[in-house]
Amino acid sequence: MDTFSEAIDPLTGNINWDCPCMGNNPKGQCGELFKDAFKCFVKHYNPDNESELPIQCIPQFEKLSECQNNINEIANEIANEIVNEIVNEIVNVNEIANKIANVNEIANEIVNEECGLCPDQNVLIDQFHKINSIKRDRLGNSTWVFLHTMAKYYPSIPSEIEKKSMISLINSLSMFYPCKKCTEHLKIYISENEPDVSDNETLSIWFCELHNNINRRLGKDIYDCLQLKNEY
Ligand SMILES: Cc1cc2nc3c(=O)[nH]c(=O)nc-3n(C[C@H](O)[C@H](O)[C@H](O)COP(=O)(O)OP(=O)(O)OC[C@H]3O[C@@H](n4cnc5c(N)ncnc54)[C@H](O)[C@@H]3O)c2cc1C
Repeated sequence: MDTFSEAIDPLTGNINWDCPCMGNNPKGQCGELFKDAFKCFVKHYNPDNESELPIQCIPQFEKLSECQNNINEIANEIANEIVNEIVNEIVNVNEIANKIANVNEIANEIVNEECGLCPDQNVLIDQFHKINSIKRDRLGNSTWVFLHTMAKYYPSIPSEIEKKSMISLINSLSMFYPCKKCTEHLKIYISENEPDVSDNETLSIWFCELHNNINRRLGKDIYDCLQLKNEY
């Protein structure tokens, strides 16, 4: 009751649905059910027995809970679809990066062997390096979207197995992310900053700080981690 008590006028007992303390509860898809349940709760509220739901309100709270469970299920399905799409994109980007790396090697060989035919071999090499760095940035962008989104949908109360799997994923990233200098740095960072897999919020902050550490090294802007919820 404490959270919502400021929404109730002490004189009239009227409820202010626009009170910020209500959050989005009265406005969302389950808004009307929330209002019914809340009105009932206020009407039958017994300050001597704060922890118990008034028995008259149980049907309203059951309907509300059913509505919220439906929404959670839909949200989880959408989240899973997004994560799958991102994983597929990363696989594609990795394949492209590997192909580009090969092309770069072949180009270097041709330039070395056929230098008599190459008017300006340095320009050619520069072009290949440029293409490589564009692909590397794309790989970085996609991987960050994946990592930040995954952290957001990580459980709020993870099991021990889920915690271990997440640590294992982070360690794997530091071995297999296809950029040698990145993995070298990542290994050092992980050894000095243990991943906080306690829940989705601590994990999101851990990835945000890792990303900022790299931003700082690369001379990029530092990201405000309070913005995570809006962006991912
Ligand atoms: C695990 C990992 C390690 C990497 N290590 C290196 C390295 O050692 N050296 C190197 O040169 N490159 C490294 N990269 C690549 C690098 O981080 C960038 O992805 C790349 O330089 C492209 O940068 P960008 O400016 O396009 O934006 P990115 O850094 O890719 O960021 C993409 C978007 O994420 C958002 N963002 C920025 N910072 C944060 C944050 N802290 N939290 C949440 N969201 C944020 C912004 O909206 C930004 O536009 C690494 C990438 C990954 C995934």
